[in-house]
Amino acid sequence: MVTIKSKSEIEKMREACRIANLAQKEVEKAIKSGISTLELDKIAENTMRKYGAIPAEKGYPSGIKGVMDFPGAVCASINDNIIHGIPSKYGMLLDGDIVSIDLVAYKDGFNGDCARTYTVGNVSDEAKRLIEVTKQAFFEGIKFAKKGNRLGDISHAIGEYVKENGYSVLKEFEGHGIGRDMHEDPGIPNFGKAGRGIRLEPGMTLAIEPMVIAGKPDIYQGDDGWSIWTLDESLSAHYENTILITENEPEILTLE
Ligand code: MG
Repeated sequence: MVTIKSKSEIEKMREACRIANLAQKEVEKAIKSGISTLELDKIAENTMRKYGAIPAEKGYPSGIKGVMDFPGAVCASINDNIIHGIPSKYGMLLDGDIVSIDLVAYKDGFNGDCARTYTVGNVSDEAKRLIEVTKQAFFEGIKFAKKGNRLGDISHAIGEYVKENGYSVLKEFEGHGIGRDMHEDPGIPNFGKAGRGIRLEPGMTLAIEPMVIAGKPDIYQGDDGWSIWTLDESLSAHYENTILITENEPEILTLE
């Protein structure tokens, strides 16, 4: 069921999203060669807690028998790790790496979700282009995030933009509605047909999140039961914001 948020619920969403973005900013400041993803995880968690939020990803159930609940406050995914990387003291960032941080702040009953891919030291021009295309794919998508348009219009715009730039989208995972639950209806694939899917209405809050692979779209899952990797070891990037559908232009809640 797709939920339409009331005015007071939207205010709570705004606050959770504001904190999620603040946590990203603190992580960004700390990114350097030699820091571990576990240290970044702590910075994000401390920032969220400082503002009265909790990291909603921590303890998120895997839904798979024998696979632990998610242990991190954030997902931290380096280079060919596309998404759902588990923060670790052994996950050391090195010069030339790119790292995607995906986090969700939960406060007063509502969730705010955003992801960014950061560069570590001197990265290749190709890695920089991948990150830019991934980010721009989000903005191409939300051009269609308007009252009366269909969900497929967003998916189509993202998928076409990524394809035009010679990259692949991750097809097995998608964006989602968000609110009281981290994952609500509808699912929002990063590819698809325009003119299909539900009609967008003011009060919908959606997490739009292009996950982009520089090489072929084939993937595998790590032995931890969470992490998703590119099979050809090509780089990957992730960019996500929580947005609000309004009477006019969409509002991006996880950006200032
Ligand atoms: Mg996310």
